[in-house]
Amino acid sequence: MSYLAKNYNRKKISFKYGKGSYLYSTDNKKYLDFVQGIAVNSLGHAHPKLIKAIKDQSKKLWHVSNAFQIPEGEKLAEKLCKKTFANYVMFQNSGTEATEAAIKVARRYFYSIGKPHKNRILCIKNSFHGRTLAAIFASGSKKMTEGFGPKVGGFDHFTFGNHNSFKKKITKNTAAIMVETIMGEGGIKTIPDWCLKELRKICNDKNILLILDEVQCGIGRTGDFFAFEKSKVKPDIVPIAKGIGGGFPIGAVLMNKKVALGMTPGTHGSTFGGNPLAMQIGSAVFDIISKKKFLNNVKTNSTYLIKQLIEIQKKYPKIIKEVRGRGFLIGLKLYTDQTYFIKKLMENKLLTIRAAENVVRILPPLNVKKAEINFALKIIKKVCSSF
Ligand SMILES: *Cc1c(COP(=O)(O)O)cnc(C)c1O
Repeated sequence: MSYLAKNYNRKKISFKYGKGSYLYSTDNKKYLDFVQGIAVNSLGHAHPKLIKAIKDQSKKLWHVSNAFQIPEGEKLAEKLCKKTFANYVMFQNSGTEATEAAIKVARRYFYSIGKPHKNRILCIKNSFHGRTLAAIFASGSKKMTEGFGPKVGGFDHFTFGNHNSFKKKITKNTAAIMVETIMGEGGIKTIPDWCLKELRKICNDKNILLILDEVQCGIGRTGDFFAFEKSKVKPDIVPIAKGIGGGFPIGAVLMNKKVALGMTPGTHGSTFGGNPLAMQIGSAVFDIISKKKFLNNVKTNSTYLIKQLIEIQKKYPKIIKEVRGRGFLIGLKLYTDQTYFIKKLMENKLLTIRAAENVVRILPPLNVKKAEINFALKIIKKVCSSF
């Protein structure tokens, strides 16, 4: 009997330890882990530099209140701002807190410039911004919101790819458009660069803020530090989480100077957010991932993986309908049942995870080795050929 609430549909497997791209189960089997805690362990399991960061800091100082200066947080915020569009950072502990804080920043900005009626957030129907109350209603997903009413208001929705429905939903009350640059849970759907540019233009014309949720697709996952960088578009607000902690819970909201104006003392807070232990781990992750050479390597290896997956798709067009995504955020849209396919991969010692639209999500650690990619490809081929 388990005393854990039943809100997860867990697989009957548990792990003793992990090393790099591999997980070792309690029943003594070795798995290639292409889930990595859902794009969280960006540097794989038990990375020596992260172990050192957590060890060193744990002996000095874990937590102090945000009532005091936190130099470790100053340092990570500076690194993030110097690398990206951002001028300011607000640290949180998770993705959903980061997306909700992003909404707060947007609303507060319009309030602070005397336009409090601009407070509605326009999102993609069936997107994913986390599981807290406002975040589930931001997603507009029936499944996630069912039974959790009353509805949290202030959100409008449009259909992915439907530009007419999008334009119709913009009103004078729209404060921000909040979208994932690449939809993760929603089935690995990428907003094309021209579309991001168009979004930016509409936002400029209509005095709307652009929030790009990079909780899953950011922090090197696509081979750029942020997925939107390729489009050259500059967002106003970017929530991050998952990859920045390398397995330690960290979230943050990055914002430009303009919107940061509204966030005056007392407007937002977090007890744990940005504590010295988290910040030192975040810094260690950042130092590795932000290097050009590291990011280029992500590009090279992920391009190879996607190319090879497309070859497999061509060979088994009745099983794999489409290879989606960018970098190491990859989806295989299947004709066959995703659950069965994932089970088969797991029997062959490759761990993957589902996404919406019958997609199998493939999320290797960013420092995955070429030989490990080839091993995964071999398993995927084998499973395809078994149908
Ligand atoms: C995972 C995710 C979140 C929520 O993050 P949590 O840490 O689970 O709260 C928000 N947005 C996106 C795009 C995500 O993938």
